[in-house]
Amino acid sequence: METLIKCPSCENTIFQDFIRCKDNTVSNEIFEIVKCNACELLFTNPRPKIDDLGKYYESNEYISHTSSNKGWFNRLYKIARFVNIRSKLTTIGNKRGNLLEIGSGTGELLDACKKAGWTTTGVEPSDRARINAKKNLNLNLIEDVDKAELKDKSQDIIMMWHVLEHVPNLKETTEKIRKLLKDDGTIIIAVPNYKSYDAKHYKENWAAYDVPRHLLHFDKTTMAKALNKSGFRIIETKAMWLDSIYVSMLSEKIKTGRRNTLKAIGVGMLSNINGIFKTKEYSSVIYVAKKDFKKL
Ligand SMILES: [Zn+2]
Repeated sequence: METLIKCPSCENTIFQDFIRCKDNTVSNEIFEIVKCNACELLFTNPRPKIDDLGKYYESNEYISHTSSNKGWFNRLYKIARFVNIRSKLTTIGNKRGNLLEIGSGTGELLDACKKAGWTTTGVEPSDRARINAKKNLNLNLIEDVDKAELKDKSQDIIMMWHVLEHVPNLKETTEKIRKLLKDDGTIIIAVPNYKSYDAKHYKENWAAYDVPRHLLHFDKTTMAKALNKSGFRIIETKAMWLDSIYVSMLSEKIKTGRRNTLKAIGVGMLSNINGIFKTKEYSSVIYVAKKDFKKL
């Protein structure tokens, strides 16, 4: 295990205990999440060493890396994924050019972008996901962004859907994407939001804490600070409406051992309504950002 002595975003050295969560997917180990006193970023601390992280992804239940058709839950998941892909394409927009996706999973979104006319590059560290992307969609995903041999300032869009929360080196990652992005390019980052209604409702059972796979846990303010620090300014934020329901279903399962579908849908919808009318802190938030030349 590795204990961080500095906040991965602002480098402040004073944290407080925030919550303790169990890894419900793979190891059943307990992990501590701490909160930075300065920027309020949450991070899993201590966390597995980088070389040990891979083993926490080895599970058949880690659904985002599978393409199984078995069971109604997986089928429903696939329908939701289709709806999600359509809505992600809307966020990506109609412009065409070079698009880099970091964390492509099994490649469904990247494939849709390719078919829509983008020149695509997909990066995915999981061998199993890359093999599935090749087998199912004939997509060649690259293991590591450094192996993609992309030129500086070459990408019109760089997107990370539910990826930044997994990243061990926040600063290195944001610096890398800034380098690869054209000066007028756009980044799209989606992450869970620990200030959402569903997060507060499920507390340590909130599925999107997903320790230790999730190393960083953002809300809107902490993301704005992290991106500002790396030379970006947020131009738009959006909700991911279905995520609140999906995460609530997983959280019900963790909390009670049952899926309690109707209750989960209720909590998910309350989270969306709460976001719309009160806090704007949705279950998962999409951040659209541009380079900020005033900052650097
Ligand atoms: Zn901080």
